[in-house]
Amino acid sequence: MTEPKLAVVAIGGNSLIADKQHEDVPSQWQAVQETCKHIADMIERGWNLVITHGNGPQVGFILRRNELAAHELHITPLDLIGADTQGAIGYMIAQTLRNEFKERGIDRPIASVVTQVLVDKDDPAFQNPTKGIGSFTSEEKARMFEDEGWRVVEDAGRGWRRVIASPIPLEIVELDAIQTLVDQGFIVIAVGGGGIPVIRDEDGNLVGTRAVIDKDRATSLLARELKVDLFLISTAVPQVAINFNEPDQQWLDKMTAAEARAYQAEGHFKPGSMGPKIDAMLDFLDAYPEGQALITDPKSIADALGGKTGTWITS
Ligand code: ADP
Ligand code: MG
Repeated sequence: MTEPKLAVVAIGGNSLIADKQHEDVPSQWQAVQETCKHIADMIERGWNLVITHGNGPQVGFILRRNELAAHELHITPLDLIGADTQGAIGYMIAQTLRNEFKERGIDRPIASVVTQVLVDKDDPAFQNPTKGIGSFTSEEKARMFEDEGWRVVEDAGRGWRRVIASPIPLEIVELDAIQTLVDQGFIVIAVGGGGIPVIRDEDGNLVGTRAVIDKDRATSLLARELKVDLFLISTAVPQVAINFNEPDQQWLDKMTAAEARAYQAEGHFKPGSMGPKIDAMLDFLDAYPEGQALITDPKSIADALGGKTGTWITS
């Protein structure tokens, strides 16, 4: 038997919330169950996996709950919201996978790791926060967030919103734990929501900071650190396209890193959605040229691994 291969799989927002009409908790379980079937298929084919996930909408719900309950309860700081969502989503994936394994007679241990990710307190992103977070509101209400130290902006006619820094992830604090679990044969869930952003204070101690780390960027760092054979991003589209949503849209089966870089420069991958995914994969392939990168949606994972769909990127 050949050595089992290791993949990092980043699961996107659609694996937790299918669409705006299905944000309730039972629907979230359904969405997780659907994705976990495809992940279990991969494990059945012999893959070792570390699974990462997004948490944007879930963070938004907790921020909104904070606002509604502020007259009675302390607010939850953003680092604790990161930990809360990693715990809840990690639990959902771990339990669902365990049940799926039982159905299929797969005997593999699973663990979810609450993960901190170190960022530089002098990262320029802190001077120029751009990532919108929480609900849209009136200017008057938004101004009240300023008193709590948030930056707020008017967002293209949709109302006022808090904005936050998205610094570069430098170090995965719990990497040793993740690596050990992988070596022991565990399926690991980690770096949820891009990790809980932490900085080092003057004494060198870790402390949570108000920021969000792009989950695709943080997953790329994890993929590099673990030197995975495959970095898979599971999102809402089966393939990457050029001229996306234009009449001359063209789905791509594969591209080289150089081609991806050229398309990126031509603006084919939207900032905030496909753009960061391509960057994340290019960073991985630069550091680890023998690796492979794949973008597809949950239901196409098996076909994509069989070379029938998905977009493959190789150095
Ligand atoms: P995730 O939650 O998985 O991070 P995002 O919404 O951030 O999902 O990014 C995936 C989305 O990127 C796709 O659903 C698609 O609408 C969009 N997208 C932007 N540019 C492209 C492109 N060139 N090809 C395919 N999808 C694209
Ligand atoms: Mg995204």
